[in-house]
Amino acid sequence: MRKKFEDILASYIDALHPIIYINHFDFKVIDETLDKVAQGSKIIEFNNALGAIDFYTKSPTFECDLETFLKLSMDDGFENEIFIVLKDIHESLNNPKVIALLKRIAEYNLYRDDYYATIFIVSSKTIIPFEIENYITVFDTPLPNNAEIMRIIEEFEEDLNIVVEQDVKNEIALSFKGLNEFQIKQILNLAYQDGGYIDAEDKLLILKEKEQFIKKTGMLEIVNFDETIDDIGGLENLKEWLKKKAKVFSNLDKAIKFGVDIPKGIMIIGMPGCGKSLTAKATASLFKIPLVRLDVGRLLGKYVGESEDNMRKALKLSEAISPCVLWIDEIEKAFAGVGGNGGGSDVTTRLFGHFLTWMQEKENTVFIVATANDISKMPAEFLRKGRFDELFFVDLPNGEERRKILEIHLKKRGKWTKDIDTIALIKETEGFNGADLEAVIKDTIENAFINGQQTVTTADLQKSIKDTKSISSTLKEKISQIKDTISKIDIKPASKADTK
Ligand code: ATP
Repeated sequence: MRKKFEDILASYIDALHPIIYINHFDFKVIDETLDKVAQGSKIIEFNNALGAIDFYTKSPTFECDLETFLKLSMDDGFENEIFIVLKDIHESLNNPKVIALLKRIAEYNLYRDDYYATIFIVSSKTIIPFEIENYITVFDTPLPNNAEIMRIIEEFEEDLNIVVEQDVKNEIALSFKGLNEFQIKQILNLAYQDGGYIDAEDKLLILKEKEQFIKKTGMLEIVNFDETIDDIGGLENLKEWLKKKAKVFSNLDKAIKFGVDIPKGIMIIGMPGCGKSLTAKATASLFKIPLVRLDVGRLLGKYVGESEDNMRKALKLSEAISPCVLWIDEIEKAFAGVGGNGGGSDVTTRLFGHFLTWMQEKENTVFIVATANDISKMPAEFLRKGRFDELFFVDLPNGEERRKILEIHLKKRGKWTKDIDTIALIKETEGFNGADLEAVIKDTIENAFINGQQTVTTADLQKSIKDTKSISSTLKEKISQIKDTISKIDIKPASKADTK
């Protein structure tokens, strides 16, 4: 992995990329690589806290700010080849003087035959000032793949002189996907210290630590859940479709060899509280892969280019964790108004563009589940066929679906008996959504407990139904608006028609 890193970096320098932005947190790794790539050329370093420092000893040479440092060192490029290494300076990249100096060095590098300075900005945060955007090449160190993870584990075994069983190694290697080398080593150390060996039980610890790391990035969240496809009442068309795709996902290698396209994902649009989030969870459990949530709102940063960079990182991270379900909840809020409908800012438009391109070109095993209520302000490109494999509309549950949902929630709480006449409840729950029906069951069971009953009856349920205000009465306008928008697009119903 590291060899490749050096080679790519060297090729960037040879191709006269004047500013190379290295996105990395482990400065030691970068220093070693720069040292090798420099092959004896002079390296000068600026540290955000200490000013100018000696690249090799790391001792301060003189205290100054970045502007002064650049002014003093820019002419060094005329004599010999020089590497200017700037660490953690992202906060200074909104200073017009700093930008102007960086631009000047970059232009000299490109246009003068007697000038040889290359700038390396090393930081865990990528901020690209638009004035020098064209001079900067962002270098993202790739996350280790399966074989590289295995090598890291084997190196760890050798270093500590321990033996980890092959089965355990295979399993933990999978859990390490999406983490970088430094993080993997840190977790291995933790697991080792907790007992003096690494066995199958450490997998749980690894998963917990991995969740922590991913959480810290602030862009993705691993969602834990217990729901399965059997917890969804109704939505038979959608469930059938997902079951078919699950066959592809659980035999990915074979399916790809056979010529099957890798499923891209689905968009589920519809009424609030009708099982969209539930479906995202059930999909992950059906496909037997992790569920990862992307909150687009959290990607928005205050610096120019920061949001796009966050989006790029989040998508890259999801690819590294893949196969996984990437759940984008309330996608309409993230991308509302993009494309001239008003309200969308430049940043959201760029984020949207980036996401669309990624979706269009994607050939990875990240399966997207995008959920939305109101799509009236969504850009049309998003809904065009080919982006998602399918668009589904989730309506308020029909009679048979309401009956099933009531049964599911009674069963979940161990209160289902054959004496309960759910058919009698169909009419009385007209206009209820899944969340209303769940609330009815919770309410009935709580009342039964307070009254000292052992079971719940049809009459108890009927009483709670009367006391519940359904979504159709509380959100009347919103519901008719959603129906109106849906009628104008080509979308499949998630439910089968109610034949009873
Ligand atoms: P929102 O648009 O408000 O985010 P949603 O469609 O994502 O809503 P969910 O979060 O999936 O709704 O459902 C809310 C609750 O209602 C869940 O706790 C779930 O148990 C119950 N529920 C909704 N629909 C169904 C269903 N079809 N079958 C079983 N339970 C359901």
